Amino acid sequence: MAAGLDSLFREAAETVAAAQALVVTAGAGMGVDSGLPDFRGDTGFWRAYPLYQRLGISFVDAANPEHFEHDPAFGWGFYGHRTNLYRATVPHPGFALLRDWAARLGLDLFVATSNVDGQFQKAGFADDAILEFHGSIHHLQCTGPCCERIWDNREEFGIDHETMRADHVPLCPRCGRAARPNILMFGDYAWIGARTARQQEGFRQFLSRQSGRRIVVVELGAGTAIPTVRAASERIGSLSGARVIRINPREPEIRAPHLSLPCGALEGLSGIEKALGLL
Ligand SMILES: [Zn+2]
Repeated sequence: MAAGLDSLFREAAETVAAAQALVVTAGAGMGVDSGLPDFRGDTGFWRAYPLYQRLGISFVDAANPEHFEHDPAFGWGFYGHRTNLYRATVPHPGFALLRDWAARLGLDLFVATSNVDGQFQKAGFADDAILEFHGSIHHLQCTGPCCERIWDNREEFGIDHETMRADHVPLCPRCGRAARPNILMFGDYAWIGARTARQQEGFRQFLSRQSGRRIVVVELGAGTAIPTVRAASERIGSLSGARVIRINPREPEIRAPHLSLPCGALEGLSGIEKALGLL
């Protein structure tokens, strides 16, 4: 395996070095090396949140917008805990490697992620070069919603870990109802997609500027359960001059000429960095 990975790292490094644009696509697996849970299956979710297992609540149940209608302190138990966790998390060194490549090799850079954790912004990526498919925990909206407003999450949450209830529920400044994270949840008809739509437009313009140029897509930790990120990688990969490097320890498969690296995000990025130094 090790020798096989080394030759894959070299081929990936050659692709990065020859590229003119870098598109980073990332799923939950990107955060694992920063110590974040990826909620992989019910087992992964309950390992991170044992109380929900005792209550018989799955990730799909916890990420349900109805809590904000009926019991917002319970809804904010989950999202307030995650707000605190993501604020406290230090992005692993793989994030900086991606920025270094763009700077050193003069690559145009854009990020497209299903993660709502804000870790790319925290790692210094430009906010106007990030698409968050499912929104962000660092932004709030009205639960109703009464209006289209989206505002920054500056709230502080204390969480009772015995009940997973928040000590505080943020309110909509316009109508006084509970506010909720501007995150697309499961079975969610109230999510305000305007911020993500603006990001989508920025991404579309970025890709149209790259027309005819060599694009490398580095995909990190994006599984098949929620296929948004993989589909985006493959769509860009189908453009002429584009190649996808799929880094995934469990589901690395992708058809040629794209490249499949069966390892975690940080291991894959560090391996490519080392190979870049040997080119
Ligand atoms: Zn409102």
